[in-house]
Amino acid sequence: MSGRLRMYNVQFGDAFLLYGQGEHLLVDLGSIDSTVNFDRVRDSIRHSCGGAELSLLLTHFHRDHWSGLHNQTPGHRLPPLKRVYLPDIFRMRVMGRWDPVTKSLLSDFLRGVIALSGPDLLDQVTLSHTLRFTLADLLREVLPGLPMGQIRLLSRGSRFQAGGRRYETLWPQLDGIPLPERQSAAFRRFMERVEAKLSPGGGEPLLWTALERAANVLLRDFAHSLEGEDVYFPGFLRAEEGSYEEVSLRVWELAQALAEDVRRDEGEFRRKVRYYAEQLAQDWNRVSLVFQERLEEDCPGGGVLMTGDADKPALNRLAGGSLGAPRLHKYYDVIKAPHHGTQRHFCAKLPPSRYFCISNGDGNSGYKRISEHYEYVYGRLLTPSEFRCTNPRCEFCRSLSDCPYFSTRPVQDFYDVSW
Ligand SMILES: [Zn+2]
Ligand SMILES: [Zn+2]
Repeated sequence: MSGRLRMYNVQFGDAFLLYGQGEHLLVDLGSIDSTVNFDRVRDSIRHSCGGAELSLLLTHFHRDHWSGLHNQTPGHRLPPLKRVYLPDIFRMRVMGRWDPVTKSLLSDFLRGVIALSGPDLLDQVTLSHTLRFTLADLLREVLPGLPMGQIRLLSRGSRFQAGGRRYETLWPQLDGIPLPERQSAAFRRFMERVEAKLSPGGGEPLLWTALERAANVLLRDFAHSLEGEDVYFPGFLRAEEGSYEEVSLRVWELAQALAEDVRRDEGEFRRKVRYYAEQLAQDWNRVSLVFQERLEEDCPGGGVLMTGDADKPALNRLAGGSLGAPRLHKYYDVIKAPHHGTQRHFCAKLPPSRYFCISNGDGNSGYKRISEHYEYVYGRLLTPSEFRCTNPRCEFCRSLSDCPYFSTRPVQDFYDVSW
């Protein structure tokens, strides 16, 4: 089956348009770089749609996957969305062995603490400015503008279609997300230390309780926008009272109290706060949606594999086939390289693909030789893959024009891939 997709250059971020008949699917729209102007990207998407409808799939809740939805300027908006697909944050919360929603809030809390404890920043910074909290922003600011009842929550095995193309979700598998024990124990110790600082006399864990409440209220509000859908609502969502502003005020007070402590700290605890702020921010990648085109039973391969920011353990499990159906295909027409092509998420066990789309860019400078890495494994196959990079920063590219994979220069450009 032939197909076509467009990969936009949004610096370090993702924006892919999968074309269909009468309906296209936009997979993510965001950049880590807040200076990227999405007007032209959104214009291009709108023009590409013409008379066709547009649906949106967000692989996960990091800003570099959705910031382009935010602050849409008049005249440069996306067309009205037909449907929105998201990872199932409700089931994720109840069935996972860890709570990604509360931990994500904790990560933003810790970022806020670091910003507040900087001597020069204290008076200028408010918590909301320092938050990179993505789920709260998304659920509260962006999604309420979408049509009620048009949001579908996906997890492993969920099927959906857009524009005559059929897709199936491979990841996240919500009840099997691995969490290394060592990290878990260290994290527990860190949290005990934080709670002890906030409440020297002991007692209930103030911070965790406040964060859980904030998470509950967020999800409760979001659940209201899903009304009419067949969604699993855990009982606790309805039990929570108060507005998000009210409950997050408590979190804000605790951030100030901890910042006071961190300011006096000799540096070791401060480093830990920073470490966990970063570490926990990665957690969403573990539950990033991976989906593929669903083929006829007797068809061994082809179509698209979109990997979002899925991490190596998830990709290895998918590639190993131990999870059963749905399985990866034998080969693909296009694979979106996981996590912008960074080394940490590189998986050499993915099936061969005619094209690899690598959405790396500025902000990715810590990861070298990105395209070369893919070339090394997938460029040496009997039928070598072709690589499409939106904005490489490989160390062997002395300048952008040196890079053999780079052809989209200005930010507003894109790559079209047809098969
Ligand atoms: Zn990303
Ligand atoms: Zn991510």
